[in-house]
Amino acid sequence: MKNKTYAECSDKEKVQVGAIKETCRSCGSGNIVFVQYSYPHPERHDGWSEVLCVGCKKRFGRWSGRELGENESEPKANKYLVN
Ligand SMILES: [Zn+2]
Repeated sequence: MKNKTYAECSDKEKVQVGAIKETCRSCGSGNIVFVQYSYPHPERHDGWSEVLCVGCKKRFGRWSGRELGENESEPKANKYLVN
């Protein structure tokens, strides 16, 4: 597999390697936490699944980028989503 240059990377890939900092999609705050589900959560996987904004309390799915409702979680199957 060929290594991509920085310019060839999507924003998502840049976030994954820490090249850019994830910010809240709603208010733009950088004060966010990455949430990993723990057992027995059905959508648990080895890594974070959603971003929680400490400022506005909104939650966004890691892969879908969707805002999550109060009783929603990010399905782990979404990791196979492609851009
Ligand atoms: Zn926010």
